[in-house]
Amino acid sequence: MTQATIERIETRLVDLPTIRPHKLSVATMYGQTLMLVKIYCSDGIVGIGEGTTIAGMAYGPESPEAMKLAIDAYFAPAMIGKDATQIQALMAHLGKLVKVNHFSKSALETALLDAQGKRLGVPVSELLGGRRRERLPVAWTLASGDTAKDIAEAEHMLDVRRHKVFKLKIGAKELKTDIKHVAEIKKAVGERAAVRVDVNMAWSETQAAWAIPALADAGCDLVEQPVASAAALARLMRRFPVALMADEILQGPDSAFEIAKNSGADVFAIKIEQSGGLFAAQRVAAIADAAGIELYGGTMLEGALSTVASAHLFASFANLQWGTELFGPLLITEEILTTPLDYSDFELTVPNGPGLGIELDEAKVKRFTREGLMKVTR
Ligand SMILES: [Mg+2]
Repeated sequence: MTQATIERIETRLVDLPTIRPHKLSVATMYGQTLMLVKIYCSDGIVGIGEGTTIAGMAYGPESPEAMKLAIDAYFAPAMIGKDATQIQALMAHLGKLVKVNHFSKSALETALLDAQGKRLGVPVSELLGGRRRERLPVAWTLASGDTAKDIAEAEHMLDVRRHKVFKLKIGAKELKTDIKHVAEIKKAVGERAAVRVDVNMAWSETQAAWAIPALADAGCDLVEQPVASAAALARLMRRFPVALMADEILQGPDSAFEIAKNSGADVFAIKIEQSGGLFAAQRVAAIADAAGIELYGGTMLEGALSTVASAHLFASFANLQWGTELFGPLLITEEILTTPLDYSDFELTVPNGPGLGIELDEAKVKRFTREGLMKVTR
């Protein structure tokens, strides 16, 4: 086995603007902050990883600032001097030292896998069992908050052949307003595109029970996390034929098993950060497969690094019935890679080089790196 120990771990926060305000039921995003981590190893190899949240702390308990602090103060000291090549053993060790902190663990595991792939000269997908597909379908989220603008955006995406599956972020407005919004967009795109919704837990069970049939009538084919409670989602599953997807309630393999046991979802939105890393996400997918639950490759609106890490994993899945939503880098105005990712013909090409198979534009990253830990308010 190659000898390589971890010598140094560096974290930074990179604040990047988004192409337009991104409206969700929980918040409106004007920018995205990436927590980037670099792991320097004794054989000269450097692995890179990313931790990113949706709208600061509006979506979940971790923030980019908290990830940086957790890694600097807790993870890094426990990793220095350890064997960088024994990734699963090292992650299990860290799991004992630090509870939860799934996003930080995902960022570190990504960096370790990137380094190991570079060391062995193979893509990360090969370290995860090997890829079954080279390209992944990518959905786009229409979230400008304005129906006409969303239709124009969808038409543009269809014209340039970038996306033909659209996810609408609803739940912040009145039910009837949201349903009308979905129906108008579906009517505009017709059979040329699929329309799905993500409610981000905004509805009560009775609201969901009223809205789901109306969404089905409007031509919506998938409803993501309409309610917050796993029990309520399971009850809705038994009432409506339209596919229901679990996202926020999926917090790694244990929760996946509980949901599967209760027939609590038709589809799992798998996210590497929310699962606690790539290996944990792989276990979530295995549970879904065994339970007959279908799979969708989710995003935390990550930048290029975590998006590509997710792509390597999703490329290795036996089943990926609902495609992916790996569009995070396209929501950001700045390109932070030396070679941009290939989004074409409605799909993303999974990079083929060693490790993640991408290279950071260091000058660009430096330009947007935040000084200190605190964010200067807008
Ligand atoms: Mg979601």
